[in-house]
Amino acid sequence: MIKAITGTKDILPVDISKWHYLEKLLRETFQLFNYKEIRTPIFEETALFARGIGEETDIVSKEMYTFKDRSETSITLRPENTAGVVRSFIEQSLGAQQSLNKLYYIGPMFRQERPQAGRLRQFHQFGAEALGSTSPLLDAEMIQVAYHILKNLGLKNLVVKINSLGIPEVRENYKNVLRDYLKDKKDNLSEESRKRFETNILRIFDSKIEVDQTIMKNAPLLIDYLDEQSKNDFEVVKNYLAKVGIQFEVDPALVRGLDYYTKTTFEIVSGSVGAQSALCGGGRYDLLVEELGGKQTPGVGFAAGMERILLACENEKSLNLPQDSIDVYLIRVDSKTEQNLEPALSAGRLDLKLELEIISLSSKLRQEYISCDYDYLNRSIKAQMREANKFNAKYVVFIGGDEFNRGELNVKNLSNGEQQLINIEDFEKLKSIIKS
Ligand code: AMP
Repeated sequence: MIKAITGTKDILPVDISKWHYLEKLLRETFQLFNYKEIRTPIFEETALFARGIGEETDIVSKEMYTFKDRSETSITLRPENTAGVVRSFIEQSLGAQQSLNKLYYIGPMFRQERPQAGRLRQFHQFGAEALGSTSPLLDAEMIQVAYHILKNLGLKNLVVKINSLGIPEVRENYKNVLRDYLKDKKDNLSEESRKRFETNILRIFDSKIEVDQTIMKNAPLLIDYLDEQSKNDFEVVKNYLAKVGIQFEVDPALVRGLDYYTKTTFEIVSGSVGAQSALCGGGRYDLLVEELGGKQTPGVGFAAGMERILLACENEKSLNLPQDSIDVYLIRVDSKTEQNLEPALSAGRLDLKLELEIISLSSKLRQEYISCDYDYLNRSIKAQMREANKFNAKYVVFIGGDEFNRGELNVKNLSNGEQQLINIEDFEKLKSIIKS
């Protein structure tokens, strides 16, 4: 038997209502903040991610699904979507049409990580990017949008963490300070952190290993070396958040994995999902557009993991979704069905008049946005009733028997058991009962 690839998941019909709910909330929220959706391809040239995310990052060095297509072009399944959105922004000259582009996306991402709870190889993110302004109001707005969504999902156990990485010169200077601090402690770091010492020194702060954490506890902090502009911008972000009632923690160790961040970075973590606790992360990236060949354009954005968010919702039982249901199930009262013929034998032997009535009625109901379904398997009335209950039908309509011969239909309200006979021609009556 062929199985799904490790780290990928089928989203089955029993779970889909959660996804629909989340996606609806996302679209409504982005509309409230005036962000427009952008859909970019799920694969891009590998060079885009290598340049846009950074060769030294875990994503690019270890996790990408990269392959050559038939014309020997190196292709990568997108591991995140900022690079793709920025590629599109440059290629489609979006900046020429609109001086500030507030964009959002929803879709699958791919990373070859070790699968565990909250970590998949195909997962889904939604995210936003605002391209064209250096205003720290947008940094804070990003946090507000993400927070608004998480709050509206009923999540409680949330912590907003913010930090500033300053401008590149400051960061480079600080990296030397950090290098100095770690010089004589280097040999005690974990192997991974010793590697990062050479390639991506800030990431040592991300280490979950105890020896590293002990050493980093006393490390000098970038936030104490910030330039005036970054400091001021950070104050604006903090004031904005306080003004709109979002509590936050300043976390000087929040460095994030991507090279292109400048100034504000943030994460929202949940205490309800175990080790993989970051629900979303983002920050400002004023250098990325230029890095990818566009005109200098400041940007800020975030991405959030949908599986992880839904896991948090499940663990907090925060979603109270209505049960799936349909409005009407049409039940064929057919003496031939009652004989319980083998479906194959009975096929084509049902009462054609009844079948046509069902087709016509279902078609009229759907035209009126009344959802309905009926039996395709020549089942007995009892079995059709069971189906109606399984689908949580609000009404069943019995079509057939003496009533049908008299030109009537029997409509039954399944929540209170009330039944009414109505004239088969009186569709308006049927409609008004069902819509009442
Ligand atoms: P990143 O793009 O790494 O900043 O990730 C942003 C968010 O995407 C994280 O906070 C997670 O919620 C989610 N995420 C990242 N990687 C994975 C993964 N492998 N599986 C599931 N969710 C992920």
